[in-house]
Amino acid sequence: MISDKMVDLVKGSSVIRAMFEEGQRLAKIYGAENVYDFSLGNPNVPAPDEVNKAVKEIVDDEVSTVLHGYMNNSGYEEVRATIADSLNRRFETSFTENNIVMTVGAAGGLNVVLKTLLNPGDEVIVFAPYFGEYRSYVANYDGKLVVVTPDTNTFQPNLTEFEKLITNRTKAVIVNSPNNPSGVVYSEETVKKIASILEAKQKEYGTDIYLISDEPYRELVYDGVTVPYLTKYYNNTIVGYSFSKSLSLPGERIGYLVIPNEVADYHDVFAAAGVATRILGFVNAPSLMQKVVAKCIDAEVNVAAYNRNREALYNGLSELGFECIKPEGAFYLFVKAPNGDDKAFCDVAKKHNILMVPGTSFACPGFVRIAYCVSYDTIINSLPKFALVAEEMGL
Ligand code: PLP
Repeated sequence: MISDKMVDLVKGSSVIRAMFEEGQRLAKIYGAENVYDFSLGNPNVPAPDEVNKAVKEIVDDEVSTVLHGYMNNSGYEEVRATIADSLNRRFETSFTENNIVMTVGAAGGLNVVLKTLLNPGDEVIVFAPYFGEYRSYVANYDGKLVVVTPDTNTFQPNLTEFEKLITNRTKAVIVNSPNNPSGVVYSEETVKKIASILEAKQKEYGTDIYLISDEPYRELVYDGVTVPYLTKYYNNTIVGYSFSKSLSLPGERIGYLVIPNEVADYHDVFAAAGVATRILGFVNAPSLMQKVVAKCIDAEVNVAAYNRNREALYNGLSELGFECIKPEGAFYLFVKAPNGDDKAFCDVAKKHNILMVPGTSFACPGFVRIAYCVSYDTIINSLPKFALVAEEMGL
């Protein structure tokens, strides 16, 4: 008999994964080219050439017992130093290896932070729409998820409500920009406001409130938009980064946390993050991949390919009468359901072999997420099918 907690988690288990499996089932029946699977954020742009080259060089050059051996739980010191230097160059910060913990992707990093910070009953605030896995991650450590309702006009966070929801049990706030699923980038003005609200609330309650910035999409931005680096605005910021999207390496499970010296109880937090990495069973981030990302620290995926998809899909759907804000980052379009019913919209689309994820999964009913990290052909060939969906939905 599985645990009561897992019964609930399995029940609520990701709709996105279920859609992905549905896509594979439909592909077997109709042929992959006739299925328009926009369900999963699995990058289709290949990893930059530097990545495979680095894998080969490292495997050839390193002593095998060292390369494949255990290491410090927080990762290789030289890799962490390389990452710190790169951040300092890009964001005028002053991190060292003692501010970086290598993680098993962003998911691993978030679990390490939450394990490090949460006592049972501690509150973690998230802004809808949010990545649905946060629910499970917070539940893993018996935290209480507190959701700020979405502003569906702009998808910038609703700060009036945020301020009201902060209590003396608020231990952390998770932000995700560029955002999954809306594609919105939080403006500098928004970031400054979040910081000043948190400063004031820390003072009011005499507590530490950690801002966790979940940033797997930091590098995927369009039209020259800049993504503010949050440690510069609020001292108690911990950044969770991932190479899953920025280098198209989601299956390799590699990322890092940035824990600045300015964070409250820095020494304890940094040490605890290393221990959490070990006792959650990660032990350390994958050794080979740590070395690969350090070698490829300046490599970039072909963001122009995602941009081409974004333009084609956004323009195509807008012409058909669908409504959505134009995303500035990530690789998702968050489209309004024509009659306000996201599940009905997904069901009609599925009849035409189009798979999308209902906004309910992101605590934002009335919208659907379309992941456009697919081939350009899939986008173009899906548009006549979307036209049929539009017609059926009365647009
Ligand atoms: N956070 C967000 C907002 C995501 O969209 C994802 C993956 O899609 C993750 C975290 C997990 O990323 P990773 O593969 O690096 O664990």
